[in-house]
Amino acid sequence: MTRTVYLNGAWFPETEARVSVFDRGFLFADAIYEVTAVIGGKLIDYYGHAARLQRSLSELGIDCPLSEASLLDVHRDIVRRNQLDEGLIYLQISRGVADRDFAYPANALPTLVLFTQAKPVLNNPRSETGLSIATLPDWRWERRDIKTVQLLYPSMAKMEAMRRGADDAWLVQDGLVTEGSAATAHIVKADGTLVTRGLSNALLHGITRASIIDLARNAGMVVEERAFSVAEAQQAAEAFITSATNFATSVVQIDDFIIGDGKPGPIAGSLRELYTETCLATAI
Ligand code: PLP
Repeated sequence: MTRTVYLNGAWFPETEARVSVFDRGFLFADAIYEVTAVIGGKLIDYYGHAARLQRSLSELGIDCPLSEASLLDVHRDIVRRNQLDEGLIYLQISRGVADRDFAYPANALPTLVLFTQAKPVLNNPRSETGLSIATLPDWRWERRDIKTVQLLYPSMAKMEAMRRGADDAWLVQDGLVTEGSAATAHIVKADGTLVTRGLSNALLHGITRASIIDLARNAGMVVEERAFSVAEAQQAAEAFITSATNFATSVVQIDDFIIGDGKPGPIAGSLRELYTETCLATAI
């Protein structure tokens, strides 16, 4: 099926949407993005993603081309036009089109693109088997809190992890895990405490992370927001990742270390269930 994509206020078949070669997203990665999961045709955790979008834009001084209400309308419209039952919506806003210059252009109009990807979110086979992770140095820039499209290093890290026979990478700086290539990293201690890195410029402020922490605390779990080392993760009772498209997915191996008994752990499993229940109940 040819998808219908949104570009700057109009709808196009995916083969006909065109962005200029002078777009600063293309030339400078001067663009931010968001990914929102869709289940049963409804948007999951939408308001968290919409809030982070505004934050990323304001950190870079890019104006949002649409009002918050219109942005939600476009999200709903793209689901309807593509008859998307389960999958994701990718949204990107660049600073716009201008002759190539490192200085920001004075009057560029931001480029806004949305497209959909149909894929299983709830019944992702990885949630049954768990993931294997390779640790790699975090060689990204220092403003990882802004969700920019500078994804070359995460992409290289994922390729290197796969070359080593793992599913994905966790990125490490000064011996401490920052996050996954495209997900937040968490561990569970033997006493059931959830440990997840505190928010800073070192990592993306995951929307799923925030929801999972709330759910864990409401369920009576102790949550420590602090950095953890690779060695601590390798010795943990459980490890897992969170992201809009993975929800909470267990990690069963980190480099050569098997986590727990090598199967998805019960605490990550129950957080995944809780998150699924809650986000389905609050989907819009
Ligand atoms: N960290 C990074 C680097 C990511 O790319 C992502 C998602 O794309 C996340 C964390 C998880 O964020 P969220 O839960 O908002 O999807």
